[in-house]
Amino acid sequence: MAHAIKFHPGMSLLEQHAEGTLSADIALAVAAHIDLCPHCQQLSRDITTDLACQLAQQPVKTNNTDWQQMLNDIMAQPQLPKQATTMQQQVSAQQAEPIIVNQREFILPRSLQRLAANRCKWLQLGGIATAKLPAGNDYHISLLYIDKNTEVPQHTHLGLEMTLVLAGKIVDENGEYSAGDLLINSPDDTHTPRTMADEDCLCLSVLSAPLKFKKGLTRLLNPLQQFFY
Ligand SMILES: [Zn+2]
Repeated sequence: MAHAIKFHPGMSLLEQHAEGTLSADIALAVAAHIDLCPHCQQLSRDITTDLACQLAQQPVKTNNTDWQQMLNDIMAQPQLPKQATTMQQQVSAQQAEPIIVNQREFILPRSLQRLAANRCKWLQLGGIATAKLPAGNDYHISLLYIDKNTEVPQHTHLGLEMTLVLAGKIVDENGEYSAGDLLINSPDDTHTPRTMADEDCLCLSVLSAPLKFKKGLTRLLNPLQQFFY
């Protein structure tokens, strides 16, 4: 990726991701960020190594024979040569079905591809389109496309909002976000995300509660809330 990613999940999120203790919906956003971010790929490898070391240092309750047998079994797992793995990943990236919206094609990070293949149909409102993904249990997960030169009306959050930029760029009052950047907003945050005149944007959106729109006529805000949630 040519540009540097500026907005990463915190260390605690990466640790919980490695431990497998995050809810599935949040883990999805973190995994997709890691797919796009070499920096967090390295951190995750380091965390996993640390966890493995900690586990190895814990006293083993089973007897020595079982432990040895388990190690033997693990070591006996066939390992693909590194070259082959890389080629396999390239093939699966090539085979991934692109997401088509507004006559634009996007290839998603590997961790999102299977889920995105089962997306609901795109709903469109002005320059904004959204397609719900079938994962959400506690959270609402969707792909969010914002055409060039388009503004999402100012809103705050009734819960947690995680937005991972998958392609293109958005800006809000707090900064500028490009592919790989992960924005985390809470009920304290109010913002007005928009795209620039020359670039559209595709995001993954994870919401724990509806957005709360702040401006405009009340009777128009309810449908808007339903559109995003
Ligand atoms: Zn990162």
